[in-house]
Amino acid sequence: MPEVDKIENLNVPIIINQKRLGGNARSTVGTATDVYASLRLLFSRMGKPFVGYSNVFSFNNPVGMCPECEGLGFVQTVDVDALIDREKSLNEGAILFPTFQPGGWRLSRYTQSGYFDNDKKLENYSPEELDMLLYAAEHKPAKPHKEWEKQ
Ligand SMILES: [Zn+2]
Repeated sequence: MPEVDKIENLNVPIIINQKRLGGNARSTVGTATDVYASLRLLFSRMGKPFVGYSNVFSFNNPVGMCPECEGLGFVQTVDVDALIDREKSLNEGAILFPTFQPGGWRLSRYTQSGYFDNDKKLENYSPEELDMLLYAAEHKPAKPHKEWEKQ
């Protein structure tokens, strides 16, 4: 410990290696230098309202993280209108993702599922049909076309 009682009005110097922090989206200057743990402790003890324990200030902890971005600082979502062309049917190539071309096995998992009118333009889908196409969890279709099993 330094032999001082008090140091005031000095900025805090932080020295950081100029190496990459790695691919983890949760790595920050704060976590790489460990100053983050001290700051959490500081805020938990000195902050108002007083909370007493520092995890409330952790963006890596479910208690402390922002519920919207889960502590990452940004939200990644799929741009549905970049993924599908609503003016086309499945058979016309409505799914724009590269491996879903008409005739390909990936698309046939959908066209032979028994759920969709493959010549109906997506803009004419009911909300339920669109929901099935875009958001259904992975499952085995109840009444697939007979070709479906072979895929
Ligand atoms: Zn956030």
